[in-house]
Amino acid sequence: MPDVYSIALNDLRHQEGSRVDLSRILTNPEFATDLVHTDGDIEIEGALQSVSEGVLLTAHATYDTVSECSRCLKIVEEEGDADLTELYFYPNRAKALVESGDEEAGELPLIENDTINIESLLRDTIVGQMPFIPLCEPDCPGLCTVCGERLADLPGDHEHEQEPVVPNPLDELRAKLVAEKRGE
Ligand SMILES: [Zn+2]
Ligand SMILES: [Zn+2]
Repeated sequence: MPDVYSIALNDLRHQEGSRVDLSRILTNPEFATDLVHTDGDIEIEGALQSVSEGVLLTAHATYDTVSECSRCLKIVEEEGDADLTELYFYPNRAKALVESGDEEAGELPLIENDTINIESLLRDTIVGQMPFIPLCEPDCPGLCTVCGERLADLPGDHEHEQEPVVPNPLDELRAKLVAEKRGE
């Protein structure tokens, strides 16, 4: 089964400046943090361009996300989008960079078998844009600490009467009995 994140470069001539459109729909991949995840397909529109070092991908991804408000736990569905830019190197170019002393060049994304793989680019970009602390509204007031309801759903003057401390009649009786026993 071909990897859904692989893009064959067959149509792209290995000649600087040559360019092809890139259009993809990834069916139901899931990129997620603890509180946010993508929901449904991810659509990618952009282009691939031959450059001297390899192939430059520039594209725009659109998708839906589902998150849970970190204050009131409400489920929030939103549209998301991300700009994608990555330069995939010909292996011999990356190798030349490593040999010339660029140690980080060992980590560069490569063109392998005339194919690029966009999974880590997508994952890093989309997950990188997900909020650490998702909120349903920027000023979400959270939950009532007494009844646990969403404060945003309650009237502004929502509050709970403090239960007055009523003396327990049994305690009073017990104290009276103890006192009588002692002959007080
Ligand atoms: Zn909220
Ligand atoms: Zn309450």
